[in-house]
Amino acid sequence: MRPKKLNYILSSISSLKGVGPKLEQIINKLGIYKNIHFLWNIPNNILERKFYENIHDAEINSLVTLNLKIIKHEPSRFKRQPYKIKCICGDTNIDLIYFNARHPMMRQMLPTNENKLISGKLEYFRNTFQITHPNNVTDLKNNKIIKSKEAIYSLTNGLNQKIMNKLTHQILNNLPNFNEWIETKILNKYRFKPWSEAVINLHNPSDDNIKNKNLLRRRLAFDELLSHQLAIGIMRNFNQKKKGLKITSGNKIINKFYNNLEFKLTNSQNNVIKEIINDLESSNQMIRLLQGDVGSGKTIVALISMIKVFESNLQSALMVPTTILAFQHYENILNLLKNSKINVIILTGRDKGRERKDKLDKIENGHADIIIGTHALIQDSVIFKNLGLAVIDEQHRFGVYQRMVFNHKNHKPNILVMSATPIPRTLTLAAYGDMKESKLVEKPLGRKPIITSSLSLKKENQLIERIKAKIINSMSKFYWVCPLIEESEELDLKAAEERYKILKKYFKEKVLLMHGRLSELEKEQIMSKFKNEDYKILVSTTVIEVGVDIPSATTIIIEHAERFGLAQLHQLRGRVGRNDIQSYCILLHKENIGEIAKKRIEIMKQTDDGFEIAEEDLKIRGPGEILGKKQSGSPSFYVADLSFDNDLLEDAKIMVENILEKNPKLENIQGENLRNLLYLQERDAAILTLTAG
Ligand code: ADP
Ligand code: MG
Repeated sequence: MRPKKLNYILSSISSLKGVGPKLEQIINKLGIYKNIHFLWNIPNNILERKFYENIHDAEINSLVTLNLKIIKHEPSRFKRQPYKIKCICGDTNIDLIYFNARHPMMRQMLPTNENKLISGKLEYFRNTFQITHPNNVTDLKNNKIIKSKEAIYSLTNGLNQKIMNKLTHQILNNLPNFNEWIETKILNKYRFKPWSEAVINLHNPSDDNIKNKNLLRRRLAFDELLSHQLAIGIMRNFNQKKKGLKITSGNKIINKFYNNLEFKLTNSQNNVIKEIINDLESSNQMIRLLQGDVGSGKTIVALISMIKVFESNLQSALMVPTTILAFQHYENILNLLKNSKINVIILTGRDKGRERKDKLDKIENGHADIIIGTHALIQDSVIFKNLGLAVIDEQHRFGVYQRMVFNHKNHKPNILVMSATPIPRTLTLAAYGDMKESKLVEKPLGRKPIITSSLSLKKENQLIERIKAKIINSMSKFYWVCPLIEESEELDLKAAEERYKILKKYFKEKVLLMHGRLSELEKEQIMSKFKNEDYKILVSTTVIEVGVDIPSATTIIIEHAERFGLAQLHQLRGRVGRNDIQSYCILLHKENIGEIAKKRIEIMKQTDDGFEIAEEDLKIRGPGEILGKKQSGSPSFYVADLSFDNDLLEDAKIMVENILEKNPKLENIQGENLRNLLYLQERDAAILTLTAG
């Protein structure tokens, strides 16, 4: 049961004094629904206004508070004219100016011959001091109410700072007391203040905590990350109690496969395969994220895992985002398995009628062992006889939770998610906290790093001459990628068509064009022509970004590289460097480019390491954009900032591991304190799970 002392802080803001249905709706727009959300709504600035006895001490255009005597009202006589109130400060004249003032109210608020404390921006206009729209007017007795520093919050239509401050303080005056839930070690490490002190100080700016604003915020950020990791840990403990499918420890078929393989696996591949096989042989369900840069050889790792599963007479599914990729994997895998009894089929949206029915039957009666496909695999009509492993490739194209769809079918298969966009650790922790991770950190032996250079578009002709020279007597093929233009496929296509026309002039029948407007079938035909026939240049929009594997293509030219993000440039570059011939990436850019674009191009030239590039990308773009908040299902935090608080996330994770190892049910006083935190952070589901487990 939730302790009663939490009721107030977790109740709806409609219970606050001064909040009616209309104001409630307006405040909701800021993401504030419950009282506690006011506390997470951290001021984005601080307003400082100084009190001056003598108006001549005050600086013009600064925020001030003055003691004014009201002398005379001069109401506006027509619409455009301001309402003027003559006042004096000591013996100096000063005017208060209001536009669109409501006359009776003005006289009530500022009665003549009385003194008031008035604050606002001090201006000097036509030889007179004035304050336009004072932002605070109070009686002298209340001089504490006009604080010299005030928190400034983000607003939305219909709200003002005064309302926000008042409501926030209403809550601050009613904070419950909590015992500390953070370990002393961590409190000391970061010099964190106790929870209530951090909250109160954040919303009550003073000189002291302007300096420490980040320290106070980080305390609350740690709470947020701690509760998030704790909730994930509790869920995982609960899930692991449910048994997964057990895969037996036979290795006969795998060993035979190894012996027939034309190349040697890298150490990295071997290590990852070991990790996966361990998971498969254990009785728990595997949920593992395999990260490997483009070209690091993830497919073979997936295939060996699937063979392992076949060895226990279970099926495997491999789901990829596009039909082209599905066919590419299908052909590769068919080829690699040509001497085995393993039945491989492919299921995509292209299968219709009789053919589709046949395939569905094979999946249902178990004649198909490895099923490769697109989204088509997770439709209701697909019924697996006994699915032991689901592999999801190029996962960032699917929503994170799509992988879970396989769980809803009546099995609980092992799940391997493969991502070619290396995701910085901070983000995997945050988004996929419940997954184990494997990484392929080396490229297959003999791979040379891709040589990346940049070139101004002005020198385009030189580049074309170089390509001409190179094409004459070599097998090399070229990708020429045309840029995204304002997210419009139509304009994209136009740019690509132009480029195609230009290159055709030089290279005649050796050029192909591919773009997003073609059907999947047409795209696939073009790829296959480019791969197998005597074509040399493929002009394309970014549709070749994902997964395409044509080893004989050794140079990629990216036109208007300044328009691409780092992750995308890296993905595109990964289309080359797929065999032991030296590969090149040429970043064509317009003559003058901005600082950020310049930096991106520099990073591309400096490193080939996808993990490093992802870290840089995180710095440049921030986490929201990388994971694409909504579709990725990444948690959005109120206070924590993942491009800044990674250290906190790491420590939160360690703290949670320790706690759950010793006290998995969150018992005794430590458990009680942590449950309070979970409630505060609205992680009630985790607490329910504790009770259910
Ligand atoms: P990605 O990780 O981008 O999916 P792939 O699995 O498509 O990479 O592998 C890229 C290429 O490298 C493929 O042509 C594959 O056959 C080849 N490959 C994979 N592992 C090795 C290895 N250990 N030695 C040599 N070539 C390999
Ligand atoms: Mg791949």
